Amino acid sequence: MADINVDVLVIGAGPTGLGAAKRLNHINGPSWMIVDSNEKAGGLASTDVTPEGFLYDVGGHVIFSHYKYFDDCIEEALPKEDDWFDHERVSYVRYKGLWVPYPFQNNISMLPKEDQVKCIDGLIDSALECRVANTKPKNFDEWIMRMTGAGVADIFMRPYNYKVWAVPTTKMQAEWLGERVAAPDVKTVVKNVILGKVAGNWGPNNTFRFPARDGTGGIWIAVSNTLPEDKKRYGKQGEVTKVDADKKVVTFSDGTTIGYGSLINTMAVDQLAEKMGNMSWFSSPRGSTTPRPMSLVSVSAASAPSASVTSAGFTSLRTTAPSIAPPSSPTTRPTTSRRRTPSSLPYTRLMAARLTPAKRRRARTGRSCWRCPSRQ
Ligand SMILES: Cc1cc2nc3c(=O)[nH]c(=O)nc-3n(C[C@H](O)[C@H](O)[C@H](O)COP(=O)(O)OP(=O)(O)OC[C@H]3O[C@@H](n4cnc5c(N)ncnc54)[C@H](O)[C@@H]3O)c2cc1C
Repeated sequence: MADINVDVLVIGAGPTGLGAAKRLNHINGPSWMIVDSNEKAGGLASTDVTPEGFLYDVGGHVIFSHYKYFDDCIEEALPKEDDWFDHERVSYVRYKGLWVPYPFQNNISMLPKEDQVKCIDGLIDSALECRVANTKPKNFDEWIMRMTGAGVADIFMRPYNYKVWAVPTTKMQAEWLGERVAAPDVKTVVKNVILGKVAGNWGPNNTFRFPARDGTGGIWIAVSNTLPEDKKRYGKQGEVTKVDADKKVVTFSDGTTIGYGSLINTMAVDQLAEKMGNMSWFSSPRGSTTPRPMSLVSVSAASAPSASVTSAGFTSLRTTAPSIAPPSSPTTRPTTSRRRTPSSLPYTRLMAARLTPAKRRRARTGRSCWRCPSRQ
């Protein structure tokens, strides 16, 4: 018999867990509780504060969405006009000592002549191919080739996206792209090359709101503050040490146990497997029929999730689309020319930590597998 019993237990108070808790709170049906091993909410989207009061966003810094439900949640948490600053995005790609405005593929007028030729060549080929193509691109790489051609693909899109996501573009699907990745218009690009012009500020996040206080993490702390105190356990008392999926009981660092009807897990899935004492899921050989816990994964941040309960009593969250931007802006103002580029560096490091030694080496050396498709 557990110390506490709830219908739904949410592990993790990052954006995804908070999204689930908000929804459970709104529907006011099943009993629920949200737990996190950190003292404050936010997960990877939180902000570290130094003793001097300097703020460092751990991850997320650009938030935008087209979902009213998501916008309402954020608005409810930080409702005042002066809770927010409005910023214009200023992003550049460092290439051959030049600062090329984002999106790179719309601004090849900034490139050296020989690269302009390569890019236009590919753009024309891709435009011609697009006319006769009657199937959708099967993956991100096909989308890139179809929209930008080989020049832009090799110079920028493939290496950049591999750096950001640590996954070859051939292994990524293309459904998420919509308004996140610009598809260049060949006529405009050529016109800009001839006239030496730069394209306008593209994209849904060309302006964005940023909290006036407490960094990005302030958003999630404020969202968490809208939830009832008695349904939150943060810090040591919220640190999951064991998940018994058969008995449907979770044990915490302080020895407390919580019994659940359904479990929504948002901590990394390998950590979940470890807490369940079942790391074998991660070492099952290729081709093995041993089930892998992918149905338990929830990956993306706080858009209104649709939840489905699996037979094991777990709930897997599937978001209809990511609601906040990935760290994909090849950002950084051209203030210091010797600085290593963008914010994607720590992200790449983080991703590298999840990779096998061989893949990590590849990520580090920048030697990419798209040149060698058979090895991907
Ligand atoms: C460098 C970087 C830059 C990024 N930039 C952006 C950006 O600009 N815009 C954007 O939209 N997104 C950005 N992201 C992505 C964004 O931060 C994540 O998508 C988001 O944080 C995922 O939320 P989550 O709730 O799914 O997971 P997480 O944020 O990882 O939350 C998981 C939670 O589980 C908790 N947990 C783990 N183990 C336990 C345990 N044993 N017991 C209890 N709780 C546990 C953790 O403490 C954590 O709070 C960036 C990420 C990084 C790393």
